Amino acid sequence: MMTGLDRRKFLQLAAMAAAGVVLPSCGSEETGTRYTNSDIAKLAQQRLDEGLRSGGGPFGPLRFNGYRGLAELPWFELDDNGQLHNVALDLPKAIDMHCHLGMSLLLAPDVDLQKPTGRVIHLLDCDATNPGCELDLDVYINRNFSEQAVDALWWGSAAQGLWGSRSASTQTIPNLLHEMDACGVERASIMPIAFDLPFGDDLTERWIEAIEIAGAQRRLIAGCSVHPQDPARFDKLRRYARAGARIIKFHPTMQRAYPDSDVMMELYNECERQGLIVFFHCGRAGIEPESTHRYAMPRHYEAALKTYPNLQFILGHSGARDVAEALPLAVRYDNVWLDTHGQGVSTLHDMLNQTGGERMLFGTDWPFYHLAASLAKLLIITEGQPDRRFALLRGNAQRLLSLSGASV
Ligand SMILES: [Zn+2]
Repeated sequence: MMTGLDRRKFLQLAAMAAAGVVLPSCGSEETGTRYTNSDIAKLAQQRLDEGLRSGGGPFGPLRFNGYRGLAELPWFELDDNGQLHNVALDLPKAIDMHCHLGMSLLLAPDVDLQKPTGRVIHLLDCDATNPGCELDLDVYINRNFSEQAVDALWWGSAAQGLWGSRSASTQTIPNLLHEMDACGVERASIMPIAFDLPFGDDLTERWIEAIEIAGAQRRLIAGCSVHPQDPARFDKLRRYARAGARIIKFHPTMQRAYPDSDVMMELYNECERQGLIVFFHCGRAGIEPESTHRYAMPRHYEAALKTYPNLQFILGHSGARDVAEALPLAVRYDNVWLDTHGQGVSTLHDMLNQTGGERMLFGTDWPFYHLAASLAKLLIITEGQPDRRFALLRGNAQRLLSLSGASV
């Protein structure tokens, strides 16, 4: 019989195999200082610490029953259909700098991105049951999901590679716009990921086109992605920039590339020439295959930040569970912006105090999570500070977008 861990490993391998991700060959890569036992120990310690500290920070315990439970907060209510919506009409209209759409890859039938459906099934769906799963806003967000939920996520990834998934078919443009309206989010930056699959790996083209067909260019900011191993990466990058993409997403974990590798360093040069903002997945989320953890250690990003001071870099999830190592990078380099998605409120509060919040950005990682989960955290940490609230929800994103020459 499979243990929980075996089962998880099996599912991860199945999902990655389905997504065509090539597994690293053992021993073909140096270990040295790229990924150390101390790194492994730090992740284990981070998990222990956040469990012990949850609820003990400046805002006390913040645990809710599902995303719907956020209606207990002063800014949200449930409507007649039981859907969460924002009732604080005086809040700044937010700009979400970390968003995606439903994915279908390889042989999967295309998700009809133009189709409104019933309830959005988020990839980590805290409203699947009634009452929903316990949603603790004071831990890294994926800690809220059971092993079964994370397994379902991996099966979902496999499904996106082969047969299309039920949840992906609800992660459409009209459904996103509806959730944005309900939460007071005006614009969202939509970021595809290039996986380097043999076919069906054209999310950038499909999403740019879908945004145009929906006539949603005013609200959805088109992003792009190229794979560092793609021989056509420079041509594609230029083509995407010409097609109006303003942000490029690199995912060192999924793309299996160190952010300071030669091939990546060359790409940043072209990003700068094309006026693109670089959005990095950064740090270990803790639910990805362990063999990929090494690529996302925050120290591997420093060469890029330092070598390209005029290029603007967003650190996705503020380094996720490696936030303690990512935060000093944002303090040291003023071309570094922090995507606040995922972090718990006590950590966000510390980040705000340490950085002044001038380069902290609202991000949601939709459709993994409901937009309101990330929004609620920023509202909590900026209560009574209207200038900071405006900066985090909107002003900082506007400034970043204007630096890249995009219309704001
Ligand atoms: Zn994301």
